[in-house]
Amino acid sequence: MLYHSTRGLDNSKNFSEVLHAGLAGDGGLFVPKFIPQLNLEILNQWRHLSYEELALEIISLFSGDCFSRAELSEIVIESYSGFHHELKSPLIKLEDNHFFLELFHGPTLAFKDFAMQVIARMFAKTLQKRDLNINIITATSGDTGSAAVEAFKGISNVNLYVLYPHERISQIQRKQMTTSNAKNVKVFAVQGTFDDCQSIVKELFADKALVSDVNLSGVNSINWARILVQIIYYFSAFYQLKDLSAGNLSFSVPTGNFGDAYAGYISKRMGLPIKKIIVATNKNDILDRVFKTGVYKSDSVSKTLSPSMDIQVASNFERLLFDLLNNDTKEVRRLMNNLSNKGHFNLEKKILTRISKDFASRAVADSDTIATINHFYNEREIVLCPHSAIGVRVAKDFIETGETVVSLGTAHPAKFRETVERALEVSIPIPPALEAIMEKQESVRVIPPNKHKVAEEIRKSFLEEN
Ligand SMILES: *Cc1c(COP(=O)(O)O)cnc(C)c1O
Repeated sequence: MLYHSTRGLDNSKNFSEVLHAGLAGDGGLFVPKFIPQLNLEILNQWRHLSYEELALEIISLFSGDCFSRAELSEIVIESYSGFHHELKSPLIKLEDNHFFLELFHGPTLAFKDFAMQVIARMFAKTLQKRDLNINIITATSGDTGSAAVEAFKGISNVNLYVLYPHERISQIQRKQMTTSNAKNVKVFAVQGTFDDCQSIVKELFADKALVSDVNLSGVNSINWARILVQIIYYFSAFYQLKDLSAGNLSFSVPTGNFGDAYAGYISKRMGLPIKKIIVATNKNDILDRVFKTGVYKSDSVSKTLSPSMDIQVASNFERLLFDLLNNDTKEVRRLMNNLSNKGHFNLEKKILTRISKDFASRAVADSDTIATINHFYNEREIVLCPHSAIGVRVAKDFIETGETVVSLGTAHPAKFRETVERALEVSIPIPPALEAIMEKQESVRVIPPNKHKVAEEIRKSFLEEN
């Protein structure tokens, strides 16, 4: 399988090149040359596979000859061995026609573990084979960073740099990032928003000398490998639902950077019978607005009760755009230039019609998030994290019209204890797995929202090693 950039100037890369590069050289995102199509026979054959076996089948459709089957199998089995649930992504029933896919049984209690555990091992394996060192930088609204620190700590050949927005993440998220005590991990608190962190990362990638001098790589959901590994749990959810009349299933996805929702869309394109991917956002509703009006315009970021979704530039939207424009890379470049120069671009009506075939969207206010957390606690004694509550709230509008909806449970409520405790007025215990980190010494540097300190650090630790 080969990959090309959405902007058309960095093409014919294999899986390991795409894994290592993160962002394409022309500023675009890598997408596969074609999407493998699964017929009903294969879909049925896969029905009884374990999560790991399913992962092996799906990843190997996209990873070319990068790993042998035995290597990939080992990577997958090790990756999910630390999950606290046998099914990895168990599906529970919330109410009639409404199901909840729990994606928070990994080591850092958010769905980011699913992909990060796998790609850390993919990095380790491919770098050892080529005897290469790499510097990975990631911007995080909280959960990507904690999953990345957990997955990459102590991995040889890799240094990890994490940028999170200072005082805009939860206590547990911060502790998970700052207490690893790993030599190959450095964490920065940026005095700004997630979008500031993300633009520092983009600026660093635009610094061609730095990128090639230190082998700079990224593990945000701009990295195709993460999207790929997130496709798996859409299949897992489908197989856990029994007796479903095909074509009537939608997924409600709490959305920020559009990585998870885009993975759902790819699983639909592969042939999984999905009606719609429902994009559920908080007040930072750029995607809901573009789907409804065609205007893609970033606003300033609002702080909400669902901080992992406090994002205004949904990077992965560029991948969808590429599809919607029938792979017209010149047009993608033009629109993305408009976005960086004028702060917005507009989509034609016929494109919106196409979007509405695969997607629906809604934005949810904080007050409604709280009401939803309360409702499910009172009715069912189910405690939702604020992000998951947004997906669940939006799904309710759709089940009323007779659809079956799977809402993605993107994080464990304990990760956002402050908010959930305030909503429910009950105390949420810290899970045993996290107790230890609460006492540990934190290591983090607070920096202004520009690239200089980070670039300096990356160069310095690179020089120390070489
Ligand atoms: C990252 C995250 C999201 C948003 O996912 P995207 O792939 O960025 O759209 C939603 N909820 C939680 C808990 C997250 O960590």
